[in-house]
Amino acid sequence: MTSEPMLAVSGLSKSFKAVKAVRDVTFSIPRGKTFGLVGESGSGKSTTARLVLRLVEPTDGTIRFRGRDLAGLSPGDLRRERRHMQMIFQDPFGSLNPRMSIRDTLTEPQLVHGIGSPAEHLRTAERLLAEISMPRTALDRYPHEFSGGQRQRIAIARALSTNPELIVADEPVSALDVSVQAQVLNLLRDLQDKHGTTMLFISHDLRVVQFMCDEIAVMYLGEIVEQGPREHIYGAPAHPYTQALLASAPGKGAGKRARLKGEIPSAHAVPSGCAFRTRCPSAFERCAIEKPLMRDIGNGQKAACHLLDEAKAA
Ligand code: SF4
Repeated sequence: MTSEPMLAVSGLSKSFKAVKAVRDVTFSIPRGKTFGLVGESGSGKSTTARLVLRLVEPTDGTIRFRGRDLAGLSPGDLRRERRHMQMIFQDPFGSLNPRMSIRDTLTEPQLVHGIGSPAEHLRTAERLLAEISMPRTALDRYPHEFSGGQRQRIAIARALSTNPELIVADEPVSALDVSVQAQVLNLLRDLQDKHGTTMLFISHDLRVVQFMCDEIAVMYLGEIVEQGPREHIYGAPAHPYTQALLASAPGKGAGKRARLKGEIPSAHAVPSGCAFRTRCPSAFERCAIEKPLMRDIGNGQKAACHLLDEAKAA
């Protein structure tokens, strides 16, 4: 019995010209678990998702999926592997072809990946419609005939149609009304349980990540600054950025912690030392000079902040 994670990313980096969009990102996801990447817009979460799927070529680092190094695969093998990794996007209207009926939307991925016969494609489409609580008559309708929440449910069914082992969901509910977000998240979680799918879940919304994820990595300016099991990240955040994000989340209240101030700097001008220092309420001299390294703080949690060294020394 193998304990190899479904996805293992190590030292993943991506530069676009002189801009380092993602720097040295390392994490792994055990089979059937959900790993969350959280951070503000511009933190590098979506680029990381695209790197994992090899929609963007990494500058450096390795991606092992189902025990295989994706960089070592031939274009044909990579195409075949894609069947096992599907993506759900933020905007279901943009990701569903408006000229394709729901029947074609749900059968096409199976056809493209050479899975089963046309009769089986249709049976799978019917089963998936039932799983997202839609009638069979939806097969002959088109995306514009549905609401945003219904379209996202169809996009989820489409992602599941090849029976993937990994789903990468990039802000899957942020374009939806708050009233339907919970329905879509519950559906996603139920279907994940049922199919045993592993998930990389990306969101700027901490409440959504808390609901969905087993383990969480907090990203800032292209790097992971804190990572650990959900209960520790939410119960005892160690990095000032995580603390400020939590204090700034709607409904959480600031408590004694400082809310997040100012804007995330441009990736063209990453501050020296600790990238968060220009917004950090606890910054001190060392933070401008020396980059903090990720350090293990127990219970599977790690964070990159000089305060952790100072606390240990004290
Ligand atoms: Fe703040 Fe310094 Fe820690 Fe960075 S290293 S988060 S600036 S205290």
